[in-house]
Amino acid sequence: MEKEKISELRGLMKTRLNRPMRYYLDLCTRCGLCYDTCHVYQGIPKKEYSPVGRSEVVRRLFKKHFRLSGRLFPYWGDAAALDDAVMDDVYEAAFSCTGCRRCMVHCPFGIDIPHILSMAKLMLIGNGTAPEELVMLADMAVEKGESVEVFRDGFKENIRNLEKDVQQRLGLASSEGLIPMEKKGANILYVGLSGAHSIVHPAVIFNRAGENWTLSFFEGVNFGAFAGDPVKMDLIAKRIINEATELGVKEVVMVECGTAYRILKFLTGEHPFRVSSIVEVIHRYISEGKIKVRGGAISEPLTYHDPCQLGRNGGIFDEPREILAILALDYREMSPTREYNWCCGGGGGLVALDNEQFRIKSGKIKKDQIAATGAKIVVSACENCITQLGTIQTGYGLDVQVRSLTELVSENLDI
Ligand code: SF4
Ligand code: SF4
Repeated sequence: MEKEKISELRGLMKTRLNRPMRYYLDLCTRCGLCYDTCHVYQGIPKKEYSPVGRSEVVRRLFKKHFRLSGRLFPYWGDAAALDDAVMDDVYEAAFSCTGCRRCMVHCPFGIDIPHILSMAKLMLIGNGTAPEELVMLADMAVEKGESVEVFRDGFKENIRNLEKDVQQRLGLASSEGLIPMEKKGANILYVGLSGAHSIVHPAVIFNRAGENWTLSFFEGVNFGAFAGDPVKMDLIAKRIINEATELGVKEVVMVECGTAYRILKFLTGEHPFRVSSIVEVIHRYISEGKIKVRGGAISEPLTYHDPCQLGRNGGIFDEPREILAILALDYREMSPTREYNWCCGGGGGLVALDNEQFRIKSGKIKKDQIAATGAKIVVSACENCITQLGTIQTGYGLDVQVRSLTELVSENLDI
């Protein structure tokens, strides 16, 4: 590795050396209590796939480049200098972690391993070795924000076609206005994904509730965050923030995507609107009597997978359970559950990468957990989780259907 590159990467590390980062890097005692808490280590029991194994890659670089002892006595201890082989380890550490933070709730010091790995991801961007898929998808999303006029008419045309699906599902005579767009002063700006299902089912629910809503031009998913690029993460989130502000909406409702929800709710400062997940809004509509779901509509045993970014990192545990308690005759809780629930292995942008065998192996503990419930349906409320649960289901031949909570509600509305 050339001197200039080493200096550039060291500079990037320095930008991340805030107090929490120094605290986490200094405080880890390498006690190893976090080993068994990581689903990846459970599926692939190698030290480098343990939480502390990952953070050590960063800590060794920190020691070498920012600690006097590491600089003066490079052959003592465990300091590591920046070179191409180390950057391969940095990649493996960063992009085998889903950012689930299950290790954090078990660590005696609450050490945030994904926070430490944010430095690793930034270095990979600086080194030009971040995953190409994530970088490309982040660039496309940024570009869409900068040239919304180019695709506006095509997008609207596609939405007109989706309105016919919504019309059929609601049994209405006309499809006109069933998916409103650019509606100033609407109560809700709903942000979907690129898949039609992420728009059609919420549209059915909003219409049934008589909501004054409008659809965003943008997708909620934030590939800038997955790539670990804070600048692109902000640009991608700002597309939605600006749209919501210009329309003057009271609330932005995020599609079933844990990361999209968490970024807008907790990581982008104060907004002049409320931020909710579609799960919270469905729960609210049921509580207020705006929609009704068919009680006991699902008789097969059913379980719920808490998306890490919605549950452990977002605090939404009760709402999905209360919705499913109405819909399902035989609801079965996974063990462990809620903040201790096992990650499925799909977060952190990992489902967008070419790594299916790795994800099947790292999803083994999730497979065991689902199988132990005896459920025939596993429901979740995050697109990444649903994709990964599907990979686990086919990878292990698990006799279970994977379903989205929003879709189940839309299909079981009491009309
Ligand atoms: S991260 Fe926490 S649990 Fe893991 S080795 Fe360090 S101190 Fe121990
Ligand atoms: S955040 Fe999740 S995937 Fe990452 S090291 Fe911790 S337990 Fe493992």
